[in-house]
Amino acid sequence: MRKKIIAGNWKMNKTVADALTLVKGIQAELAGSTEVEVVVCPPFTALKSVGDVLTDSQIKLGCQNMSSENDGAYTGEISHTMLKELFVKYVILGHSERRQYYKETDFWVNKKVKKALETNLRPIVCVGEKLEEREAGNTEKVVEAQVRGSLADITAEQFENVVVAYEPVWAIGTGKTATSEQAQEVHAFIRGIIRDMVGEKAAKGLRIQYGGSMKASNAKELLSQPDIDGGLIGGAALEARSFVDIVKAGL
Ligand code: PEP
Repeated sequence: MRKKIIAGNWKMNKTVADALTLVKGIQAELAGSTEVEVVVCPPFTALKSVGDVLTDSQIKLGCQNMSSENDGAYTGEISHTMLKELFVKYVILGHSERRQYYKETDFWVNKKVKKALETNLRPIVCVGEKLEEREAGNTEKVVEAQVRGSLADITAEQFENVVVAYEPVWAIGTGKTATSEQAQEVHAFIRGIIRDMVGEKAAKGLRIQYGGSMKASNAKELLSQPDIDGGLIGGAALEARSFVDIVKAGL
């Protein structure tokens, strides 16, 4: 049985004060619950404050990117050591916004995934096709290239600490959700690629989140699909009520 994992990606939102209000609201409702793994990913500037609130909590701290390097002259970058010092456990890598606006390629995502795994951080690795790619019938081709490229050379053992997020780009922040059938089809396809890459056991154990306009009203149906093991939530993670309701849909 794969434990469901719901992660909130706060993107470039929330001052420290706003982040504290949000995490305290989430914490108040979900403090002791352990059936679903819950992760919050604030912006870097709020990691310390949010992490302090989460000491001794079941809710885990994640971040939205990290450097593939250890330290040194990389202006503007954040290293694994800095993140671990703040008790970060998960790191979102290869989000479509980073691929689109900052030209992150599978090569770079793969370097970061390897660094995260080497340093005991758990990557949430995002893949997903654009609208024109889906319409051209290229969803599988695009997703397969991203999965194989971003997760190249990762061993079956390392896969135990990997989460994949399938996020069709056309569904992110648009209010258009993939139907549960569309999402399930791609999730099963991704699991098949992982089976081919590292074997049945790792594929069966891998958690694959869906992301793209997930909200309380569609979460239950998406989360009841056999290969959908959680959600990566953007807009609906910015408010405690809507995020908590999605988590509860996964129970
Ligand atoms: C995301 O950016 O990862 C995401 C899923 O956003 P939204 O929920 O707003 O579509």
